[in-house]
Amino acid sequence: MMDGLGLEADTGGRRPSILYERTSMIRFTNTLTRRLEEFVPLKPGRVNLYSCGPTVYDYAHIGNFRTFVWVDFLVRFLQWEGLSVKHVMNLTDIDDKTIRRSNEEGVPLRELTDRFARAFFEDLETLHILPADIYPRATEHVEQMQDLLKSLESRGLTYLSGDSLYYRIRGFLPYGLLSHLDKDGMKDGARVESDEYDKESPRDFVLWKGSKPGEPSWNSPWGDGRPGWHLECSAMSTHYLGDTFDIHTGGADLVFPHHENEIAQSQGATGKPPVRYWLHAAFLLINGEKMSKSKGNYYTLRDLLERGEDPDAVRYLLLSVPYRKQLNFTLDGLEAAGSALQRIRDFTARFKDSPRSASANGELRSAIQAHRTAFRAALEDDLNSANALGELFEAIRTANVALDAGGLSQGAAQEMEILLSDFEAVFGLETSPRVLLDADIEALIEKRQQARREKNFAEADRIRDELKGKGIILEDTPQGVRWKRA
Ligand code: AMP
Ligand code: ZN
Repeated sequence: MMDGLGLEADTGGRRPSILYERTSMIRFTNTLTRRLEEFVPLKPGRVNLYSCGPTVYDYAHIGNFRTFVWVDFLVRFLQWEGLSVKHVMNLTDIDDKTIRRSNEEGVPLRELTDRFARAFFEDLETLHILPADIYPRATEHVEQMQDLLKSLESRGLTYLSGDSLYYRIRGFLPYGLLSHLDKDGMKDGARVESDEYDKESPRDFVLWKGSKPGEPSWNSPWGDGRPGWHLECSAMSTHYLGDTFDIHTGGADLVFPHHENEIAQSQGATGKPPVRYWLHAAFLLINGEKMSKSKGNYYTLRDLLERGEDPDAVRYLLLSVPYRKQLNFTLDGLEAAGSALQRIRDFTARFKDSPRSASANGELRSAIQAHRTAFRAALEDDLNSANALGELFEAIRTANVALDAGGLSQGAAQEMEILLSDFEAVFGLETSPRVLLDADIEALIEKRQQARREKNFAEADRIRDELKGKGIILEDTPQGVRWKRA
């Protein structure tokens, strides 16, 4: 983080955003109403937030991370606004995919899910994603799930068919409000078993699956079995955050059926709508198609790191497009994101080293302050990250002109410092020029080697020059590339 802002004296150590004059109004697009709504937490100053987390059967891909980086952006933004956030993100550690993979590999389910949960946490750190307060695992909350089923059963919303328990959608009138789908047109989602012939209605979904050989199972009043996927999130969200909480997030593919079914279960059991604001991130695409495991058209974060890509550039790229717009991933786009971030860092280095001009410059100060205000307004307008970045770059342009002409006044410089620290706080990226670590250098060298293998010599030269600009000299030897600091 930036330090030495010199703000302590006049802010009393409060967050920089408090320096804004106008009172704030945060607005989010609520999937439930499809409208931009003012965000008012249930309890003033506090936000209870639940996010659907990863299915821990494999490494997460950067499509998953588009959603998770955005959730982190949301958390950081709310905190920056002075709100205290309780964030719960589940780990789906039992479902068809985790079971299948553990059987394929011949390892116990817990061993498999532990391995990929650990990998997930490592990736979060690489991407500067703040840890949630709680990461509940489905397998550790079967009791809460069964309690929920008992409530649903007492309200006549369940029925047994074969060896599984189902939700009777006919009994829950508000079904479909979230996804805005015509009830008759609703199809079961991909995650619902397709071989359920005995349902009263095709839309009914499984709550408790009868046990099958080779699958973990628990005793229950409905026979031995395991929870359905949707049930996990209903039980864990209400267990940790109460019957009604502020925000629920996920990727757009979860609206239906997952979140629709979550509402049916939670509200069916408690009689109260579980969530006030439903927020969903649009897909990360690749070649115009949704990035997904099943299509095989994905990069994991680790794939990109192996190619020598910079995780900060990945984070910047994922945040550069507002969350409700789809984002098409390309390596060129990633390159451009890295350059944009570098421009911010180059400016910061120049700005920090520059002398302050003695004379006051009220006009410049107000100009930068206006960008700072607009930066916040963009974020408050449904987290419009692109517009916020636009304001930052405008401010940088204005400040660069002033630096060319001799320097920024004390007041203008202070405005600029606050804006840079606001960017750091919300975007979760440092602006101070990074000291190039050995690992960074080696990653860039590997990226250059990759470019050469692909006969992209222009790119290989560009990387060599980039390293040279940072004082690193490369030497190609028969044993491989050697490097030294100039
Ligand atoms: P999963 O591990 O499949 O349960 O997914 C974890 C999260 O990633 C969910 O919130 C999904 O909605 C989200 N997700 C999956 N694919 C994409 C994608 N291509 N773009 C954005 N989010 C995605
Ligand atoms: Zn969920």
